[in-house]
Amino acid sequence: MTISRSDERYLRQSQFNAIGTQGQQRIEASSVALLGCGALGSVAGELLARAGVGKLRLIDRDLVEWSNLQRQSLYTEADAINAAAKAEAAATHLRAINSSITIDEHVVDITPANIAMHLAGVDLVIDATDNFSARLLLNDWSLQTQTPWVHGGCIGAGGQVRLFTGGSPCFRCLLPHPPAPGETATCDTAGVIGPATHLIASLQACEAIKWISGNRSDVRTDVLSVDLWGNQMRNIRFTGNEDCIACVQHRYDFLNATAAEGEAAETLCGRDAVQIAGSGSRVDLQRVARAWGSVGKVTEARFFVRLALPEEQTLTLFRDGRAVISGVRDIAHARSLFDRYVGS
Ligand SMILES: [Zn+2]
Repeated sequence: MTISRSDERYLRQSQFNAIGTQGQQRIEASSVALLGCGALGSVAGELLARAGVGKLRLIDRDLVEWSNLQRQSLYTEADAINAAAKAEAAATHLRAINSSITIDEHVVDITPANIAMHLAGVDLVIDATDNFSARLLLNDWSLQTQTPWVHGGCIGAGGQVRLFTGGSPCFRCLLPHPPAPGETATCDTAGVIGPATHLIASLQACEAIKWISGNRSDVRTDVLSVDLWGNQMRNIRFTGNEDCIACVQHRYDFLNATAAEGEAAETLCGRDAVQIAGSGSRVDLQRVARAWGSVGKVTEARFFVRLALPEEQTLTLFRDGRAVISGVRDIAHARSLFDRYVGS
């Protein structure tokens, strides 16, 4: 008996009992979106492309930068030199890895207004975002469409993972409201190491493969929390919140954010600058200044704190959470810088 090249490609995976031939067929018939093509997205994307996921959708608003190469293993120096769009560069590399699957790339900033369009038709979403607002938006969309997603978060040498099914319990049970700007560290302020992002992305890909191959009862129900530097792995029991605003009360605040919210970022007329509206929650400016100390030159004033970024860009964060990013005209780029250095 001869086996075809396409069967041979996935042989080691279909030999694994829990998957088998039938599970492999299900994987090849499935469609997965990667929301973000950074550290988590590029690693999970590679694993899923190699596993034979039939349709992969790559969504990212950013460009490849030199500081990405230390961990975002799909990208090369050429991508950084060309400042390639991540979704596009990732698609090129993944097509070279597996030409038998369908890959489409979306270079966009996901907002309440466009999330439904860009995620339409997918069976599962990998959370490879870098901020809480995006996750809460994805969570709302997931509940409304009953589409599962795999949360992954990573910072420093640790992170956490859990698949949410598109029903109860949900991510908002864990985090009812996004933290105030500057309240949490981000990879751009606290750093992150490659082994941690690879591990978290790998765990996300594993939960996704369990789900799409038909092994749903094997999906982890705890939140797995990992600290590679402190040598700890913990399963945190998670049963949800019986008063959850989203999965119990079915209020999708982030998805239903009004048009005004959608316009929360605007290019400032006559200036090379974008303003991002504040959340209204009071920012601890001293704390932000300390976190930025390792990033670049920080200027502290009574009502704001300012960070000098490369290429003569500056990020000014005000006490009410409003930010002005100068040296930038593109709103998606400004939002990206905001999420990276301020967090939300
Ligand atoms: Zn919930």
